[in-house]
Amino acid sequence: MTASAPAASPAPPQVLLAHHLRQLKLPTFLREYEKLAAEAAREGLDHVRFLLRLAELELIDRERRMVERRIRAARFPAVKSFDTFDFTAIPSLNKPLVLELARCEYLIARDNVIALGNSGTGKTHACLALGLAACQRGFPVSFFTAAGLVHQLMEARDERRLLKLQAQLAAVKLLIVDELGYVPLSQTGAELLFEIFSQRHERGSTIVTSNLPFEEWTSVFGNQRLTGALLDRLTHHVHILELNGESYRLKQSKARRRRDPRPPDEVAAAADPETGEIIRAS
Ligand code: ADP
Ligand code: MG
Repeated sequence: MTASAPAASPAPPQVLLAHHLRQLKLPTFLREYEKLAAEAAREGLDHVRFLLRLAELELIDRERRMVERRIRAARFPAVKSFDTFDFTAIPSLNKPLVLELARCEYLIARDNVIALGNSGTGKTHACLALGLAACQRGFPVSFFTAAGLVHQLMEARDERRLLKLQAQLAAVKLLIVDELGYVPLSQTGAELLFEIFSQRHERGSTIVTSNLPFEEWTSVFGNQRLTGALLDRLTHHVHILELNGESYRLKQSKARRRRDPRPPDEVAAAADPETGEIIRAS
């Protein structure tokens, strides 16, 4: 009689279950099922209710992971929301309109938003908060500065992948173009940007922020006809946010100085972390 090798013992069910749950991409099921099973046993929950709880947890977690993924894909320079936005600091801004926009229905209507106002009045903050709200409600978002977008378009053109980038930009539900107007565009840059706005017209929403009133946009695009055609498309279905007032940063640094009445030479000159501008007590 030859001794046969001992049969391999079957894998414990936990190992198989973990494998299947990974295959099915149910990480929350996997993480929580033992704890929930113990809870269900203690509370006398039946199997269906136990499964229901697990499925609900997985759904909540999945939604959170998707929002995080959308936020990463949007490439926001910072994540800001209206929770930290002080509407009383900018009375020219139509708060009910902003709160309405934060509900994201304009994205379904494919309306645009243009935020105009001088520097430091919260235009970037407001468009970041609208971008975040869109991510939270399930819309894909892309954030660019106007100069950054033009740079990417020119680079894509030089590398013969302009059509691909244009298709990506046309497909995104919300395109945010911040800081139009700080840098005048080259003729090619202006034409490439025009093409993007044109391709998105009535297909998806675009938010543009600018420090310049519409009358001065020609100075950015360097061409009256192109500017006219662009404004025509952009303002066809548009909500305009006016942020005119004192710079929030300036106001804050003045308030800081009021709280710290030491003579100017005792107050160390500090650089504004965003602008690099030296803040001195006056
Ligand atoms: P803009 O884009 O109009 O130049 P920002 O949005 O960059 O201005 O605002 C400058 C700084 O001040 C940012 O840190 C921003 O978060 C803050 N800020 C501006 N307005 C407000 C506001 N009304 N409430 C809270 N923070 C604000
Ligand atoms: Mg800004």
